[in-house]
Amino acid sequence: MSEQLPVSERSQLRRIPSRASYDRALAHAILDVGLICHVGFATGTDVFVIPMAYARQGDQLLLHGSVASRLAKSLAGGVRLSVCVTLMDGLVLARSVFEHSMNYRSVVCFGHATAITDPTFKAAALRDLTEHLIPGRWEDARQPNTREIQATTVLAMPLQEISIKTRAGPPEDLQKDMELPYWAGVLPLQLRTAAAIPDPALAAHTPLPSYVSDYARPGQRSRL
Ligand SMILES: Cc1cc2nc3c(=O)[nH]c(=O)nc-3n(C[C@H](O)[C@H](O)[C@H](O)COP(=O)(O)OP(=O)(O)OC[C@H]3O[C@@H](n4cnc5c(N)ncnc54)[C@H](O)[C@@H]3O)c2cc1C
Repeated sequence: MSEQLPVSERSQLRRIPSRASYDRALAHAILDVGLICHVGFATGTDVFVIPMAYARQGDQLLLHGSVASRLAKSLAGGVRLSVCVTLMDGLVLARSVFEHSMNYRSVVCFGHATAITDPTFKAAALRDLTEHLIPGRWEDARQPNTREIQATTVLAMPLQEISIKTRAGPPEDLQKDMELPYWAGVLPLQLRTAAAIPDPALAAHTPLPSYVSDYARPGQRSRL
């Protein structure tokens, strides 16, 4: 049975609540498909929203950055943050401009992040961050050395306060607009790869790994 996450004052979705969900498994599934998140946090004088790579490791979201970055320093310092991941599924073209919409799956998470300092857990988190983006790559590249690990802040944010919003399906025009002569429907959008471009300095005859040639996000087809 699916597990429902608790709803808080700030995670309560107000507009079109029928599109809301607090299902943990659905949140995980959306997070596992996405490539980037947007991290929002306040520093006291300003508010920032920064795009970042991420990975899900069980019930926590992993983030990483240079130890020198404001973002890593702020997050490791325990500021409150909100993280959003959005999957775009299509443009919804209604007969009226007002009813145009998008099909999407999005997750908003709230909480704090803490820095992972234990070298074993830090290496595991860096592995998960790499494997989230391109499964198979961690074992097929030089892994980070001590200096590189020390230069990186790795953060873990518990996935406890989450809201999900999804829209799917055709446009929802008013009945009185249904006779209008305009095309209406959904233009599906998907992230797909094009042919990989070898580094010009790549040694001749270096084979293209299958995890590159067959790359696809979970549930999506690979090539254009
Ligand atoms: C790709 C995309 C495009 C969108 N474009 C627009 C747009 O142009 N204009 C517009 O008004 N709305 C847009 N939305 C919807 C928007 O994200 C909000 O859902 C909407 O503004 C209504 O918010 P609210 O007032 O109900 O919630 P708020 O009161 O603003 O938020 C309350 C809580 O609801 C939850 N929540 C709100 N929205 C989402 C979400 N999308 N996903 C997960 N949790 C959420 C959060 O926990 C939030 O703290 C878009 C959504 C997506 C994914």
